[in-house]
Amino acid sequence: MRQQIVAGNWKMNNDLSQTESLISELKNIKKTSNAEVMVAPTFTNLLTAVKALKTVDIEVIAQNMHFAENGAYTGEISAAMLKSVGINTVILGHSERRAYFNETDDMLAKKVDAALANNMRVIFCFGEELADRKSGNHEHIVESQIKNALFHLDASAFKNIVLAYEPVWAIGTGETASPEQAQDMHAFIRKTLSNKYGNALANSVSILYGGSVKPNNAQEIFSKPDVDGGLIGGAALNATDFFAIVNAF
Ligand code: PEP
Repeated sequence: MRQQIVAGNWKMNNDLSQTESLISELKNIKKTSNAEVMVAPTFTNLLTAVKALKTVDIEVIAQNMHFAENGAYTGEISAAMLKSVGINTVILGHSERRAYFNETDDMLAKKVDAALANNMRVIFCFGEELADRKSGNHEHIVESQIKNALFHLDASAFKNIVLAYEPVWAIGTGETASPEQAQDMHAFIRKTLSNKYGNALANSVSILYGGSVKPNNAQEIFSKPDVDGGLIGGAALNATDFFAIVNAF
């Protein structure tokens, strides 16, 4: 049985007191599903969030990190720094990082290596743009994003990799991939993994869907056999909506 996961990406939202308020709301809501729950506050609020969520079953994760261990990289944060404040999981390859900060597959391969070398778990994001979907090139794009950043890894590394398929055209747009489109792509991703690493590994990796998941569509998307959970943006900023999604399983 693959692990079901719902992760909230708070992006560059919430200052310290807003973070504290959202966390106290999250702590008051009952979880009724078996999904693993994660939230990703901005860097400055990670330590506060780790301390505040220590007693509950919500993991605090990071939105990004640099691949170097330390050094002259002004403004960047290393895996070791994240570990030192209690962070064991990092989101890498989010489409906003790729689009606005020029993150390439090569850079992401290095970030993945650095996270794994520091015994961190990675939520690796990828997904096609609208033009790729319209031209029918979406599977090719997704396959190359996965191959370029992950296929240098040994099979054993995949116990610490979670995949997140996030079609760029569905992020923050209110436009969701249909449950069938999500299922088709997740099945394709699993086949891509299987071709390289075999069926057993492909069937063990959790694949999340991200892109305008809301309380009113989560259940249908999560009911698809190859969808193991969600990476949630906008709806994760509201505790009630976020837990409605968590409890949609
Ligand atoms: C995201 O940014 O990963 C995301 C899925 O955002 P939203 O849920 O707002 O589309």
